[in-house]
Amino acid sequence: MTGATPKRQGTMQGKQARRPRSAACLSRPYVATNQAPTLDSLQSLLATVQRNERSLKRFQDIELALMGAPDFGQFLEVMLNRLRHDFDLSGVRLMLAEVDDTLRDLIDTAEGIRALDAGLCIAQDAGTFSAVCGDGQLWIGAPRERHAPLFGPRAPASAVVMPLARNGRYLGIIALGSRDARRFSPEMATDFLERFGAVVAVCLENMWNRERLKRIGLTDPLTGLSNRRYFDQRLREEVVRGARYGAPLACLLIDIDHFKRVNDSHGHATGDRALRAASVCMRAQLRVTDTLARYGGEEFAALLVQTEQSWAGTVAERVRRAVARLEVPDDDGAPVPLTISIGLASVDPRDSHDPETLPMRLLGAADAALYTAKRSGRDRVVVASAATLR
Ligand code: GH3
Ligand code: MG
Ligand code: MG
Repeated sequence: MTGATPKRQGTMQGKQARRPRSAACLSRPYVATNQAPTLDSLQSLLATVQRNERSLKRFQDIELALMGAPDFGQFLEVMLNRLRHDFDLSGVRLMLAEVDDTLRDLIDTAEGIRALDAGLCIAQDAGTFSAVCGDGQLWIGAPRERHAPLFGPRAPASAVVMPLARNGRYLGIIALGSRDARRFSPEMATDFLERFGAVVAVCLENMWNRERLKRIGLTDPLTGLSNRRYFDQRLREEVVRGARYGAPLACLLIDIDHFKRVNDSHGHATGDRALRAASVCMRAQLRVTDTLARYGGEEFAALLVQTEQSWAGTVAERVRRAVARLEVPDDDGAPVPLTISIGLASVDPRDSHDPETLPMRLLGAADAALYTAKRSGRDRVVVASAATLR
């Protein structure tokens, strides 16, 4: 299991005649076959087998942790931190292929990812992969020029670079580096490493699919914004966080004015175009940390975290004005004017007597304010009275 499989020929550059090594992380057990084994050689064989067994156990532990990682953040934590620590590596690098938008989203939202991002990079195109990974085979030895994009200026003395592929598609590359020039050498058995690369690829693909499904369930297909389910979940989370750390929270309920008329006068396709244009426009007015969701037909909800009421009012007004300036073309290219009404409610969850019901009350207050905005003429922002939220 340790090194009995004959090494693949011709896949790695710089390959030399096979020799037994003791310093490698996964060594081939070696006894000369043309003479009777000595006690020394048997002891050395036993030590090698024991060392390999410990390595195997460590790999298995890492693999189990990867399989059990509940989300992308934890997956990266195991790949980049735990792997480096448990195998005493100088560095671990993970280069991921930008298969679709999911990856960027994952990186933007995964918890604690900032602390890990030194080890993580995204390959923009297939060319980057072939530049690093050459023929797409596992590579082992002293890092070369072409590995520079992975390791940056602090190149390790030896490294192994493994392509992560599933069903003929590259998902990424994982590279392990060591300060010890003999740690990863071309003479080493690579069975463990290849198996590990295959397991990482499967875990990565599974996690990717899981996250994509999660996203589909939480995303509105027409606008690409989050949906109501996601918004309600985020609102509950932010109320809990705000109650613990004392961060003010603002909620905007936004409704497009007389939208039925847009459909009736210009057709449903123009209506859909207007919904998409309004979404992009509103999203651009908010911070990345704010959530904007399509809450229902032509109704949107925004959650502004760590935002005092007065600033939330300014943002709401900015959103209203930006939509009013939009020029959405109808099927003949003629501009269709759009306006929105906004109900704004804000609260510091620490001041609330009942945090459990606060999400519902915050939305209720924003909805009442929206109703007032509609009744008093539309195309305006109305702020809910704070008293309703205590
Ligand atoms: P108000 O100013 O009072 O909000 O008037 P309104 O016409 O916007 O409100 P109403 O609730 O009467 O109509 C909402 C319209 O939004 C009706 C519905 O056909 C349209 N709508 C909802 N979802 C979609 C969608 O996905 N695409 C299109 N094109 N229209 C939609
Ligand atoms: Mg409306
Ligand atoms: Mg409505």
